[in-house]
Amino acid sequence: MRWLTSDVLRRIGLWHTTSTAFCTRYWQHGDQTMIWELRHLYGVRPAHDDFAALLRDPVWGPPLSIWKYHCDCHHRRPDPGGRPHPDYERQCTFHFHHSDQPGVLQIRFRTNAPSDDEPEVRQELQAAQADSVWLSRVLPQRKLVAAPGTR
Ligand SMILES: [Zn+2]
Repeated sequence: MRWLTSDVLRRIGLWHTTSTAFCTRYWQHGDQTMIWELRHLYGVRPAHDDFAALLRDPVWGPPLSIWKYHCDCHHRRPDPGGRPHPDYERQCTFHFHHSDQPGVLQIRFRTNAPSDDEPEVRQELQAAQADSVWLSRVLPQRKLVAAPGTR
C-alpha cells in the first residue's frame, strides 16, 4: 500500500482545491483498500467527476484507473418523502486502482439530508479560522424563506 499512500499524498491538494466536501476522513480496510469518505452539504454538488479526471491525469502522479463506480446523483433528495432526517444520505462511490500495483482507493462521496446542525458546523469551522472562500464553497449559507402565512 506504500505506493497508494504516496500516490494520494502527491495529490492531497485535490482534497482542498477540488473537493466540495465540508468533512473528510479516511481509513484502511484490510491491507488492500484505502477508503476516503467525503461528506457534502445537501445542495452542493459532489466533485467526483473532477476528482476522477485528476486522479487519472499522469501530470499529478502515476495515473489511476476507475475500476468501478456507482453514482446516486440522479436521486433528487437523499431523504425519502422530503422530510429532513440525518440518518438518510445518498452516496456515490468510486474505486480506483493502478494497473501495475495491488490495492484499491475507494472514495465515497456522501450527501446527507438537510439537517439543523448545518449552522453549528459552519460556526465551528469559522471559529477554527477555516478559509472563507473554501467555506463558502463547501457550506454555502442557505437563504431563509418564510413559510407561507408567517408574514
Ligand atoms: Zn454522483
